[in-house]
Amino acid sequence: LERRLFDVNKVIHDVVLLSRHRMELQHVSLGLELEQALPEIEGDAGQIQQCFINLIFNALEAMPEGGRLTVRTALDAKRREVRVEVEDTGVGIPNELMSQIFEPFFSTKNQDKGVGLGLSVVYGIVKEHRGSIYVKSKVGKGSCFIMRFPIPSKTS
Ligand code: ADP
Ligand code: MG
Repeated sequence: LERRLFDVNKVIHDVVLLSRHRMELQHVSLGLELEQALPEIEGDAGQIQQCFINLIFNALEAMPEGGRLTVRTALDAKRREVRVEVEDTGVGIPNELMSQIFEPFFSTKNQDKGVGLGLSVVYGIVKEHRGSIYVKSKVGKGSCFIMRFPIPSKTS
């Protein structure tokens, strides 16, 4: 795991470029609500990029008939955390599945679509960055995955 300061908004821009084509094909509109004065966080930008890709692809798979994807960043100055939200207007997650979705090999998809590793990988990466993740969801309305990452204290 790399330990470097990096800009989360920049990583989000890169991921958006990678997934824009797929969004257009699927009639998914994109809302980017990025805090401009976001402090850098410490860790491995490539791994965090993988997290966002997994969350965005899940969001797209949850909206086969189209919808809206919103990616948000915010600064929680009080808690000294950067918050990242990936929200969709997709099928939602039933309450009884909530405790299982982060487990490896849990999937509700056909085997050609998913093997159930995406969210377990996300969870592992978030934990390695001393962050946290949780999800709010309503069946038929959509889901929102919320991650929090600590802002490193200046050591100079
Ligand atoms: P996979 O995508 O291969 O099924 P994941 O670990 O990425 O595996 O996700 C596990 C399960 O969590 C999915 O099969 C799906 O049931 C649920 N899930 C994840 N993200 C979403 C989402 N944005 N909307 C609805 N369900 C989701
Ligand atoms: Mg997945």
